[in-house]
Amino acid sequence: LFPEAFPGILGLSLTGKALAQGLWNLQTIPLREHGLGRHRNVDDTPAGGGAGMVIRPDVLDAALRQAGPGLPVIYMSPRGKPLTQARARALAQGPGVTLICGRFEGIDQRVLDAHGVEEVSIGDYVLTGGEIAAQVLIDATVRLIPRVLGNHDSLAEESFSIGNRGLLEAPQFTKPALWDGREIPPVLLSGNHAAIAAWRAGEAERLTKERRPDLWRAYAETHVDPAKDRQRSGASDQSRNHREQTEEPKR
Ligand code: SAM
Repeated sequence: LFPEAFPGILGLSLTGKALAQGLWNLQTIPLREHGLGRHRNVDDTPAGGGAGMVIRPDVLDAALRQAGPGLPVIYMSPRGKPLTQARARALAQGPGVTLICGRFEGIDQRVLDAHGVEEVSIGDYVLTGGEIAAQVLIDATVRLIPRVLGNHDSLAEESFSIGNRGLLEAPQFTKPALWDGREIPPVLLSGNHAAIAAWRAGEAERLTKERRPDLWRAYAETHVDPAKDRQRSGASDQSRNHREQTEEPKR
């Protein structure tokens, strides 16, 4: 309903540059163009009564037909499966996606069923419309497309990444070394790469345990003893090999 909301923030900075370079592209389909009557109505009152309005199935169906076949269709919706980094990764490797941005009370269920639409949520709260949610999904996905980020290495260690074992990322620091009476943790200035990696791995574990017990449980279930795993990730390959040969994994 609000195509002018796009590309919005996605037209700026790295995603904007990548859009201009054709590393990704975007087509908006104004729902109103498929609206009915002189006022191009797209919605009607809810069957069974109740507050608000519902987007009509015939109107959305016409818009989806314009989008064409061949791409998965996702309706941004608070009822959907939560958006995850893994999902963004899969989308970034896929052929593209048709996103439906809802408004009002939502969309007639029949058109969602007819088009095999999947629902995806960006969190347990309710927005006024799906445009911001769609931009969240697009941003999370587009930055994973090769060459979109200036420094692709930054993806390897960030929160939820495979390189970071699906954990939250450790705290970050930069110059000056002393600010407002606060120091950078000395290990980060030591030049000892193994010690820095071990510190970051330990901090990732601490933060995840404190803030996201759900992520921590998932990690602990799929990895050997986290304390030993942390030691290993900061240790040299040689010592890793040694440990793997000499220690039984503990669950
Ligand atoms: N009546 C709906 C419900 O209770 O589930 C909420 C409708 S909401 C006011 C209008 C539109 O905003 C939705 O159709 C959806 O497209 C979008 N939206 C709202 N919250 C969202 C969320 N957490 N994730 C994704 N989209 C959301």
